[in-house]
Amino acid sequence: MALRTIRIQGDPVLTKKCREVKEMTPKIRQLIGDMLDTMYEANGVGLAGPQVGVLRRVVVIDVGEGPVVMINPEILETSGEECADEGCLSLPGKAAPVTRPTYVRARAFNEDMKEFEIEGVDLMARAICHEVDHLEGHMYTERAEGPVHDVEYDEAE
Ligand code: ZN
Repeated sequence: MALRTIRIQGDPVLTKKCREVKEMTPKIRQLIGDMLDTMYEANGVGLAGPQVGVLRRVVVIDVGEGPVVMINPEILETSGEECADEGCLSLPGKAAPVTRPTYVRARAFNEDMKEFEIEGVDLMARAICHEVDHLEGHMYTERAEGPVHDVEYDEAE
C-alpha cells in the first residue's frame, strides 16, 4: 500500500463522472488500500476515487467506527436534514455549510464484490452523500449555503 496524491479543487478530474467497477482486480484492490492509507494520513473521514485521480466508483469512509469500503455505492433512501459545516480533503483548510440528510440507507459492494446495505446517521450519512457526489463529479462547494470559509478542522472528506 502507498500514499497517493490528493487532487485539489480546480483539477479537472474532480469534475468528471466515474465509471462503475465491474469486477475486483489486483489494481482496484491496491487502489482501495492506497485510498485508506491516504485518507488516514490526511486525517480525513472519507475519500473517493477521483480525489486520487482515478475515475472509478470507489469510496472509503471512516467516521471513527472503522473503515467502510463502498464500491458502486447507490443511495436508496434518505430522511431528515441538517445544515452543518462540511470540509473536503480536496479543499484543505476550508469549510462551508451544506444541508444533508441525517439518515441514509445505501447499497454498495465490498472488496470481494459482495453486495451489502448500510445505514448511516449524522456524520456517516453526510459522508456517504459527500462521497457519492464526488463520483458524479461534484464538490460540496456547489451545494454550499454560505461562504466557503477558512477553518481549522480535523475532519474532512
Ligand atoms: Zn470531498
